[in-house]
This record gives sequence, C-alpha cells and structure tokens, in this order.
Amino acid sequence: MPQTVQVAVDRATIHFDKLYTYRLPQDRSLEVHHGSMVLVPFGRANKPRMGVVLGVDQEAPDQAQKELLDAAPGEARLTPDLLNLVLWLKEETFCTYYEAVKAVIPYGAQYRPTLEEGKPRLQCGTRLPTQLVYRLTGQLPEKPKPGPKQLAAVKLLEEGPLSAKALEEKGISREVANNLWKKGVLEREEVSEVPDLYTNIPYRPEEISLTAEQKEVSQGLAQLLDRKPHAALLYGVTGSGKTLVFLSLIQQTLALGRKVLVMVPEIGLTPQMILRLKSQFGSRVAVQHSALNHTERLAQWRMIQQGGADIVVGTRSAVFAPLDDIGLIIIDEEQEHTYHSESSPRFAARDVAKFRAAQQGSLLLFASATPSVDTFYWAKEGRYSLFRLTQRYGGHPLPQVEMVDMRQELAAGNAGEISLELAQQLQENLNQGHQSILLLNRRGYRTLATCSHCREVIKCHSCSVPMVYHKDKNQLVCHYCGSVISPAPRECPSCGGELRYTGFGTQRVEEELARLLPKARILRMDQDTTGKKNAHETMFSRFSAGEYDIMVGTQMVAKGLDFPKVTLVGVLGIDNLLFGQSYRAYENVFSLVTQVVGRGGRADLPGRALIQTSVPDHPVLNLAARQDYEAFYEPEAELRRRFLYPPFCSLCTMGFVGEKEDRVRDAAQSFASILGQLAGQNPEIPLRILRPAPMSIAMLKDQYRYRLIIKCRNGKKFRELLRQALAEYDTRKLSGWASVSIDFYSDND
Ligand code: ADP
Ligand code: ZN
Repeated sequence: MPQTVQVAVDRATIHFDKLYTYRLPQDRSLEVHHGSMVLVPFGRANKPRMGVVLGVDQEAPDQAQKELLDAAPGEARLTPDLLNLVLWLKEETFCTYYEAVKAVIPYGAQYRPTLEEGKPRLQCGTRLPTQLVYRLTGQLPEKPKPGPKQLAAVKLLEEGPLSAKALEEKGISREVANNLWKKGVLEREEVSEVPDLYTNIPYRPEEISLTAEQKEVSQGLAQLLDRKPHAALLYGVTGSGKTLVFLSLIQQTLALGRKVLVMVPEIGLTPQMILRLKSQFGSRVAVQHSALNHTERLAQWRMIQQGGADIVVGTRSAVFAPLDDIGLIIIDEEQEHTYHSESSPRFAARDVAKFRAAQQGSLLLFASATPSVDTFYWAKEGRYSLFRLTQRYGGHPLPQVEMVDMRQELAAGNAGEISLELAQQLQENLNQGHQSILLLNRRGYRTLATCSHCREVIKCHSCSVPMVYHKDKNQLVCHYCGSVISPAPRECPSCGGELRYTGFGTQRVEEELARLLPKARILRMDQDTTGKKNAHETMFSRFSAGEYDIMVGTQMVAKGLDFPKVTLVGVLGIDNLLFGQSYRAYENVFSLVTQVVGRGGRADLPGRALIQTSVPDHPVLNLAARQDYEAFYEPEAELRRRFLYPPFCSLCTMGFVGEKEDRVRDAAQSFASILGQLAGQNPEIPLRILRPAPMSIAMLKDQYRYRLIIKCRNGKKFRELLRQALAEYDTRKLSGWASVSIDFYSDND
C-alpha cells in the first residue's frame, strides 16, 4: 500500500497545474491506486476538491502533508490505457490534467464531492438503475403446506432466474418471493439494469458481397491488420460503397479476436451506422455520443469497460472509449471539423486515434470522398497507405450539376431565394414522386437587421455578431450566446430609423417552398428543429419512409446519408462560405458541395443538382460540381506550400481572453514578444510569429478576444519553448489580464 500520493486537482489553470502530495489516512480506510479519483483538501481554506492520483509513493509520510478526504472505489479508477491518454493530452494540447480526465471518462462516471454526516465524501455522478433478481436455490419445505402462489413461483423459477418485475407480471407478488427468500428457497440479488439501446434492430447478418474494386481495396486494407500500427486513407467517390468496405474489414478484424472503433462526424449519422453494424454483427455494439443521457452513456461505457462490446460507434468523444485490443479504428468523413474539440482539451480525434493505434497496434483508417488536404498530402507522400474507390456502386453515374447565376435571377425580377430553375425542377421531382434535398447552412429567418437610416446593424450586447431574426418566435437571437430581443424591433434602437431585415435562413426557405409548392411535404432540419432527443433519427427515418418530399436543412443534411429516392439536390447561400477567413475555406466549401451533391442519384434513379451562386465561374464551385477532388487538391496544396499553411507547417493558435480590451491586447502583444525573445535564443526551432489581432468574433459573452498565430513545427522542442513562454507570461502576472488558450487545430475563422 502506498503511503503518500501525488494528485492533480480540478479547476487548475494551464499556467498552474502541478502535482500535490497528500498522505493517506493512517487507519488504512482508503484503497488508493495510480489513477484513483480522490477528494482532497485544497488551498488555504482546505476546501474539498476533486483530483486524480498520478503518482504513488511508499515513503513514510510527512505529518505536515495534508490527508486525503476520500477515494472512489477501486473499479472506478482510470485504467493504464486511459491514464496514458490523460498524460498524452496534457503534453500535446496544453490542457490541465483534470481537464484531460474529464474528457476521457463520461460525466456520469465521474465522482463528485458531497457531504455525508458533515464530512466531505465522494459520490458517483450517475447511478445505474438496479432490479432484484430471484433464483431458485433450495426446495420448498413440505410443512407448513405451501400455498398455490408459492408453488407457482417455484415452478416459474425452475426455468431460470427472474426479476421481481417479471414475477409480478406473472402474478407473483414481491411479498411471496421475499417469503420464499427468507425460507432459503430462493436467493436474490441486486443486478444493474442496463438500459439497452436499439433493441429493436434485428440481427440479420448478410453475406457481404463486394464489387471487384471494393474487394481489391478490402484485401489490401486487410493486409494491414497485422497487429502493427498502420494508417491508411480510403478515398472513394460518394456512393462508391465505403460502408461496405468497412463492414468487410470489421468482419475480418473481429475474426482475429480484436475490437473495432467506428467514428462518425455527427450525431445525426450514428443511427444509420448503428443500424448497419447491429444488424450485421449483433448486440455487442456499444454507442458513445453526447445525445445519450447520463445513464445511457454510463451504461454503454461500463459495457465497453467490462469487455462487453466488440464494436464501439460514436462521435468525437468515442475516441476515448475504454476498449482494449483495438484492431481497427475507422474515421469516416475524416475531413470534418467536428472531429476537433473547441474547448479544452483542444484535441483532434485523428491524433488521439493515431496515438491509440500506435499503442495498441491498430489499423487507423481515414475515409472520405473529399479528404482534407492534409490527409491527402500525407497519403501521397506515403505516410498513409492510399486506397481508391473510383466508381459508384452499381455503375450509377455521379449527378449532373448546373450553376444558377443569382445575379441574372435578380435582374430577371425574381427577388426570392429560390431560383425559377430550382422551383421548376422541384415541381417536376414532386410530380414524379421523387425526393429532393436543399442545403442552406444558416438557420433562422432573416440573418441581418440593418437600420435604413443610420446603417447600423443590430448586434448582440455581449458578442460582436449580428443577431438573427426568428420568425416563429418573433425574436432576434444571438446564435453565439443565446440572448434574445423580444419582440423583434421595427425601429433602430440608436436613431429610431426603420429597420430592414435581409439575408435568409432555413426558416425563410421553408416558407418560400411552401408558397411555391403548396402540395409538397417539407421537412426542415436545423438546430432549432432537432433539439429533442432522437430528433435526427426520427426525422431521417420519416424522410426515408417517404413521408416528406423535400428536406431543407443545414450541413446536417449534407453528409453521409443514403436515401435512394433523392434525385435532386439544391445548394443555396454558399457564396459567403467561399469568402470566409479560414485558410480552409475552399477546402470546406469543396467538401460541403461535393458531399451534398453526392446525396443524389445513389440508387437506380439518376441524380442532378443545382448550385445557386453569384459567382458561377468560381473554380472551387466548378470543381465541386464535377466532383473532381484531385483537380481541386493540386492547386490548393500548392497555395498552402507557397504561403506556408498546413500540412507544410503547424498552426498554433493562441487565444487571449479577458474583460478589458486594451489589457487583452497588451497581454497578447507581451506574449508575442516573450516568445519572440525565446525564439531568438533558440534559432534551431523553426517558427514564425504573426502579429496579434482581434479574433473574427472580437467579443463573445462580454469577453474580448485576441489571437496570436504561430506557424511552427509542432514537436517537443517547440512545445517546451511555448511552456517557457507561458511560465514567463505568468511570472509577469499577465494571466490576470487575459487567460490563454492554445489550439493546434483551429480553423482560424
Ligand atoms: P459511400 O459511403 O461511399 O458514399 P455507401 O457505402 O453509402 O457509399 O454505398 C452507397 C449505396 O450503394 C448504399 O446504398 C450501399 O448499400 C450500396 N452498395 C455499395 N456497395 C455495395 C455492395 N457491394 N453490395 C450491395 N450494395 C452496395
Ligand atoms: Zn451573444
């Protein structure tokens, strides 16, 4: 047994996150290990605080050391695998130890402080429901003469154990069962009742028969299932059957007795994947994503931890699933920015997966029709093995794509958001009983309220962003902090001039569609309509069942979905994404357009797509229309090389956030000069510090924000330099002016 432990505590800052030594109570009442969750007295006031044990020591404790208050039970401790992840996250992403702990275990599995008889104690966040289960262990005594209910109960239990509830349903009350238990005829046990998800999916494995092209790819990939770490890219056009290749590879991995992690970029795509995996591979499929409630999430997590799952499916956080012996990790639609976490720890699932694959000897498979420029670059350089699927399954052609020039549309007198051409095609599709998808990546009704007199735009009080008009509630809403102005004003608050509402979101398009096509059944999918639990799943399955003709929505309708009856896709309001600030703006537009266009014509009916734009000659749109990724990639990679952007360097984006603008700016500038000086002393570490500037959203929730971008080679040496600079920043007490965040994955938008 250890005598003292080193603990990392909750609520530390990146400037100040070290290990504190505590001694164990002498009565040996606590069982503590590496990775145990503990409660410690902290600070001058000795307030109880959560912590995690990251070091244990046999040396005799010093009486001056503080004593642990409580420790969670042994089975709740972080496994060596998860502990490794915590240390790795801390080193790679500049988070605190405890932030990393909170990332790797779900909320429901985290212990929290409570008071028990006045003493600070730990308690687990979520308790899984339990039920009593009775089992026959003895014989009914002949005297006193058993009653009919008792006889019936014994008869039922001869078939096997039953829960109290099951017995009650058969007319045996709890009293009868407990009486038999007291007599020693039955044993009873409290068993955790794991809420089983997706039980309605039948197990119907099908023979996976691959096309020649798919088979070749699958065989090539299967060679990489040799217990050594590998990374590969499966680049296949939309509808080429990447999912079928996954299924075949998963089957081969399971046959080796190893486990599989499948990552999808959005919650909306999990049901479809779960359906396929459960019907193909049965019940040992677990799920991890944020739309589960705490109990479900915890139950699924426990199932994985206890070895009850062979396959885990989920979104970003599933990358921390406590799976051992992972043979295969699939990251589908690998280019999606949702795989990056935007709060601490600011990690990329891709890199976590790489680390796990290296540790466990797994094949890491990236898949996409539009890989990120980074991934494709590394595939071409040979760092990842590259596999291609060039044809759609069944020989279906890619959709025919046309540009609609919205400037001409306006000149011709159509001031609506839907062009005449699109309206006509929608009508035709409706007549034929086919389905259509419209993409518009903005929710709300009107996106801008401008004063016609003083030209002022109505912005949020707490954030430097325009407020969006939501017609259903007649409110202006800030999409960043959620604050509202209700009812929506008609006059400018500054000068009293008349407000003009412009720009359009999904609500307005839905309304316009209803006017143009009164017979069409329209489904709108955006953050406002999908808030309820399982909303995505329900909506997609109703659309799939033909209950709607047109689905209009934000990026959530653009990717990964497979609806055979969709033959028409419309892309609206894409232009302002083209002119975004991010160095990835083109990559993102290319991917979004290719993906959504690829939703059409996936089965026997041919597909077509219309892109509404004011820049119909724009090369990125035209390449996306042709679905010609490689023609897009070459010049794009060349630009990145020339102007030094990833993959030719790493971007370290530092955020400086505080209440006073001038102080935030000064803090950012001071940091830049501290780092500049250190860099001068270490000329062997290549880096380029750009000038600090306000972020594109300069104020968020009443906090001013500056950023500092460093182009660097992200390695140990650079991170060490950054740590030194942070220490100096802290020594100069600048952290009181602006707190710092570090992100190696930010899009800088
Ligand atoms: P991708 O993910 O590459 O866009 P999918 O895996 O969704 O494509 O496949 C597109 C459609 O073609 C799906 O309906 C899928 O079931 C079907 N499909 C692809 N390959 C096969 C195959 N080998 N056998 C049967 N159906 C297939
Ligand atoms: Zn706001």
